[in-house]
Amino acid sequence: MKIFNTLTRIKEEFKPINKEIVNMYVCGPTVYDLFHLGNARTFIFFDCVRRYLEYNGYSVNYIQNFTDIDDKIINKSIKENRTICEISNKYIEEYYVDSDRLNIKRATQNPRATDCIEDMINLISKLMYSGFAYEIDGDVYFSVREFGSYGKLFGQDINTLKSGSRIKINKNKKDALDFILWKKNKENEPGYDSPWGIGRPGWHTECCSMIYKYFDGDTIDIHGGGIDLVFPHHENEIAQIEVLENKKLANYWMHCSFLNVGNEKMSKSLENFFTIREILNRYTGDVIRFFLLSVHYRNNISFDEEYMESANKSLSRIKKVYFNLINFKECDNVNKNECLDDIRKYHSTFIDKMNDDFNTADAISVIFEFVKYVNKYITNFNSLELSESIKIFDSFFDIFGLTYKEIEEFKEIENDVKEMVKKRMQFKQKKQFDQADIIRDELVKRGYILEDINDGTRIKDINNNLIYIVLV
Ligand code: AMP
Ligand code: ZN
Repeated sequence: MKIFNTLTRIKEEFKPINKEIVNMYVCGPTVYDLFHLGNARTFIFFDCVRRYLEYNGYSVNYIQNFTDIDDKIINKSIKENRTICEISNKYIEEYYVDSDRLNIKRATQNPRATDCIEDMINLISKLMYSGFAYEIDGDVYFSVREFGSYGKLFGQDINTLKSGSRIKINKNKKDALDFILWKKNKENEPGYDSPWGIGRPGWHTECCSMIYKYFDGDTIDIHGGGIDLVFPHHENEIAQIEVLENKKLANYWMHCSFLNVGNEKMSKSLENFFTIREILNRYTGDVIRFFLLSVHYRNNISFDEEYMESANKSLSRIKKVYFNLINFKECDNVNKNECLDDIRKYHSTFIDKMNDDFNTADAISVIFEFVKYVNKYITNFNSLELSESIKIFDSFFDIFGLTYKEIEEFKEIENDVKEMVKKRMQFKQKKQFDQADIIRDELVKRGYILEDINDGTRIKDINNNLIYIVLV
């Protein structure tokens, strides 16, 4: 399995530290509102990574944080005259409601920033003690120039970064690149006691001290998040840990590109967002997942109602073919295995695509090709071929986190249609072709196309794109 590592900028063979367990951390939401489709892209993609690792037999220790102390939460609490805790509790609950509907597996643990304040204070104290951080009037900053590798994730020289306009000038800092570790609290803001006075930790300290805490100070296998987190968030996480420890924070850094609206990133601040809840009113979690995974995670994806509709149709087509397979009774070619090699090749190609840096887009293309193949040859499949075909769809559903929901709703062929088809077969056996044709014409009017096969009739339900077989 190969993973594109943001740190090295190449696809690398995935070698977890432990042969059986993968340790993985993904930056989670700031809990002051419902999450939007852009956030969902990142959460769903990493859920798919986790599912694929599990599919490959790994047990995944998956940690995703909740940022529950932040300016946005404080502002909302003031605006709504509610406590910060009321706001964050509410949106953590809402996060679970929506992510469950999207079939996102729950993380092994979801630590909250406010439960890790002491760990963050300890980390900042260590940085202060070792001379990598300094305090000015109750604020504590990290001294970026003390860490020689700063900029390695973003891939920029420290001097280029300095001249960049992304860094806010703050006259309190010794260097424009230095970032805040501990913020002195302003009046009416919540605060925690610390060696530097009342205040709260900076966001960049949250994730790395959680990683340190929840993975016992070990290097983790995968650290993930949206592409906007590469700099400065993840760069700053690396600096804080790696300046102290002679080991890497994470071996593989993975970043999911944006979900855009037009040419702009979907975001709360641009006010161009749809909450996932609004979209769930119109599309199922499966359709949303299918849509978001239909583009490779390192490419941007644009939201468009038309694309959602087409995802809906495509997924429905796939589910119908699955229904056809499980409802099918094999024909008389029990030992032929004519299609077996093809079917197994489709499965291995699907897996190859996933092994190539989680190329879900190409993996879906393989599924589409296979759908066409099944529609063409299903009447030739024997029971082994049917079960091998079903396995491909099961792998696909499992890895992509899709449910079997609608499949259960596809009905079996109606009894009267079945009876008419049987009657037609009898007429044909008795060579009463006119009578047989009358039945055929009647069924065509109702949307059923009949095709004679060796030992029965193949019926294509045009309206529902389903295939049935009635045996003699
Ligand atoms: P936030 O709650 O803003 O901290 O975001 C939570 C996660 O969603 C982070 O990993 C972000 O990088 C990611 N994210 C935010 N907006 C988008 C977007 N438009 N497309 C993809 N990922 C996003
Ligand atoms: Zn983070």
